[in-house]
Amino acid sequence: NQGIGSWPARRARMTPERVALAYRGRHYTYRDLRERSYRLASALGVRRGDRVAFLGANQPALVETFFAAGLVGSVFVPLNARLARPELRFILDDAQPAVLVLGEEQDGEGLPGRHVRAGDYEDLLATGSPEPIDEPVSHGDVCLIMYTSGTTGRPKGAMLTHANLTWNTVNLLVDVPLAHDEVTLISAPLFHIAALAQTLVPTVLKGGTAILEPSFDVDRTFDLIESERVTVMFGVPSMFNLLTRSPRWAGADLSSLRHLLCGGAPVPEPLIRVYQDRGLTFLQGYGMTETAPGALFLGAEHSIAKAGSAGVPCFFSDVRLVAPDGSPAAPGTPGEVYVQGPNVTPGYWRRPEATAKALSADGWFRSGDIGVADEDGYVRISDRLTDVIISGGENVYPAEVESALYEHPAVAECAVIGVPDERWGEVGKALVVTRPGAAVSGDDLLKHLDGRLARFKIPKSLEFVSELPKNAAGKLLKAPLRKLYGGQS
Ligand code: AMP
Ligand code: MG
Repeated sequence: NQGIGSWPARRARMTPERVALAYRGRHYTYRDLRERSYRLASALGVRRGDRVAFLGANQPALVETFFAAGLVGSVFVPLNARLARPELRFILDDAQPAVLVLGEEQDGEGLPGRHVRAGDYEDLLATGSPEPIDEPVSHGDVCLIMYTSGTTGRPKGAMLTHANLTWNTVNLLVDVPLAHDEVTLISAPLFHIAALAQTLVPTVLKGGTAILEPSFDVDRTFDLIESERVTVMFGVPSMFNLLTRSPRWAGADLSSLRHLLCGGAPVPEPLIRVYQDRGLTFLQGYGMTETAPGALFLGAEHSIAKAGSAGVPCFFSDVRLVAPDGSPAAPGTPGEVYVQGPNVTPGYWRRPEATAKALSADGWFRSGDIGVADEDGYVRISDRLTDVIISGGENVYPAEVESALYEHPAVAECAVIGVPDERWGEVGKALVVTRPGAAVSGDDLLKHLDGRLARFKIPKSLEFVSELPKNAAGKLLKAPLRKLYGGQS
C-alpha cells in the first residue's frame, strides 16, 4: 500500500509511542492509530472504490475513518458539518457512500444509507480485527472526494488521489521545515482541504501530535497554546484577527509557536504587523480544494516585503496567469490563475463536462481567480471571476443563495453580494425587490432560508430596494452594488 492509509503503520514502525492525536483529554499514540484504523477498516467491511463518508466536526473518528478508508482503497468523503439537511442529501445522493460515519454531535436524521452512530463506534471497532491490512493501493488511486460549490450552485466532488496529497505534503515541507516534535493545533475544520492537507497529513508524516478541536474558540486557543506548547497553527485570517482582539492577547505566552500557516483569503498587512510585533510571521498560501490545496506560497522572509501577495508557485507546481485572449498575462496585468502539477485533481466525481471545462488536456486547472504578478513573479490574487463571498473561510456562492430566495413567492428580484465584516472578513448581504402588493419582512425572508441553506450562507443583512442595477441587455450588475455597500469592486 503506497497510499496515505498506510501512513499510521509506517509511522508506528518508527515512533509507536509518540502521541498522534489529542482530543478532549484523550490521547492516541501512533500504535493506537495504526490498530484503530485496521480495526475500523475491517469492521466497516468496505472495499476498493467504495465511498466512506464522515459527517462531523474534528474528532478522532474523522481521522481514523480517513486512514481506514485509505487502507483498503476506499474513498473518504468528508462532509461539511455546517450544511443544512437538503444540502447534505444532495451530496450523499451524488457520492452514494457505502457507509456514513457520524461524529459525536450528529444524529444522522433524514440522511440516507447505512450509518455508524458515534455511540456504536467503539463497539464496532472492538468487532474489527487488529491484524495488518495490506491491500494494493497505488498513488494514482483516489483517496478522497471533497465537495466544493461552484457558480452554478450545486456542489461538485473534487477527487484527490493519494499522489495529490503526498505531493502537496512534499510541497509544504519544502517551504515549512516541520520537525518531528511539532504540536499542531487543528481547529479549522478537517472537512475542508486546508486543515486536512496542510496540518493533519504533514503532522502524521513527521510523527508530531495533532490536537483536534471541534471548533475555533479564542479562549480555548490561548489555553491550548500555553498548556500544550503548540508549535503549529493553521487558520484563515479572520481567526488570527480574532485572537488579537482578545483581552488575553497582550499577556499570552506565545513562545512555543514556530509556524503560523494562513490561507483561504489574503492576510491584511496590519494583521501581519501585529503578529510581527510579537516575533511571529505568517506563512501564507493560496490554493483550492482542486489543488490539494497548495498552489502559491509566501514564506516568512518575504511576508512584509511582499505583503498582499500570495507568493510564488510551490516547488513542484506551476502557476500561470492567462489573459482573457488566452495569451500569457504580462507582469502587472491581470490574468486568470491556472495551476498544473502533481497536486492537481484528476477531475470531478461523475462530472465529465465540469472536469473538461476546468481541466485542460495537458493538466492545467482553471481556478476562476484573477491574479497579477509583479516583476519577481509574486502573485497577488486580485479578484475572482465568480462573485463568490469568502466568509470566515467558507465559500458562499451568491447564485445558490439567490435561488433559495427566489423560492419565496414575495421575491421578484434579488442579488446577494459580499460586504466587509470585521469578524468574518466578508458576509453576505441580500438586496431584494418584492412583488407588487407582497407584504413580507426581511426576517420572514431570512427565516425562509433557515434550514434550506447552511447558516454561514444566510445573508447577515437584507435590504429592500425598488430596483437593481442592470446593463442594457438586462443583466444584473453586481459591481455597482458592491461599490455602494463597501464590498470589493
Ligand atoms: P475552495 O474552493 O473552498 O477550496 O476555496 C478556494 C478559493 O479560496 C480560491 O479559489 C480563492 O478564491 C480563495 N483563496 C484561497 N486562498 C487565497 C488567498 N491566499 N488569497 C485570496 N484568495 C484565496
Ligand atoms: Mg472552489
